[in-house]
Amino acid sequence: MDITEYNFQRCKLCGETAAEPTYSLSDSTIYVCRCCDFHFLNRLDCLSEKSSGQEHLNEKSRHYIESRMDENHHLHQNRLAFIASYLHLSQCEALDIGAGLGQFQRLLNNRGARTMGIEPSSLRRTYAWEKLGLDLHGELVESDYWQTRFIQHFDLITLWDVIEHVDFPHQTLESAIKLLKPGGILCLDTPSREVFPYRFSQKLYRLSGGKIGLFLPSFYSTVRYGHKQIFTQQQLSELLERSGLEIISSVSSGTGKLFSNSKIVLAGRKTASM
Ligand SMILES: [Zn+2]
Repeated sequence: MDITEYNFQRCKLCGETAAEPTYSLSDSTIYVCRCCDFHFLNRLDCLSEKSSGQEHLNEKSRHYIESRMDENHHLHQNRLAFIASYLHLSQCEALDIGAGLGQFQRLLNNRGARTMGIEPSSLRRTYAWEKLGLDLHGELVESDYWQTRFIQHFDLITLWDVIEHVDFPHQTLESAIKLLKPGGILCLDTPSREVFPYRFSQKLYRLSGGKIGLFLPSFYSTVRYGHKQIFTQQQLSELLERSGLEIISSVSSGTGKLFSNSKIVLAGRKTASM
């Protein structure tokens, strides 16, 4: 989307001009919509300064990337098992949006899928190419590159830990769903807002007159591609349905648990009429 400014009172989920600055963080503000209770940060990548200079894959960044590979390995295995229960992966055409280092794409390849991946960070793309031989794409899913060549092309599209990072979740999902074949499956996961640390922090913020945000800042980030919105399970399910998917699985992995790393995990099938 080509915009030069955005009125954050306009809710990024329901579109109503009903959002109010509600939680002040040190360098940003969480807006809350009075109509749909969506929570989003007053930051957009498309409005921020481009990061200065080219990202380089040096020893430090390489070390950081490699230190995180192991901790994600089990997560990717679980994601693969989740998908395999809905889809025959062999010969499946798959697109991984937010491919990171290409680890998940490689797991799909090992199961016989034909894959492509999108990763906006040039540093991670370089790493994926050097280490895994994967040629990830820097073009975002909304771009002409995908929207002119790959309409109704994929059987599977995954967005692991992506939807909280994008400027406009609705546009990203609509663009992704256009690339799905009718009957194709989209899977995603994202942090949940319905967890104790978030809810308790909201309460403490109110009780302290805005002095104590506790864990609220840790759910969001103002860096480029940082977390800009945190959904409830119902908000995200309804958004997927509005975008043309029939929900086939909806799990909030840690509802009610204290300090758990809780995620919403959703899978939807593209309805034939879309
Ligand atoms: Zn709203």
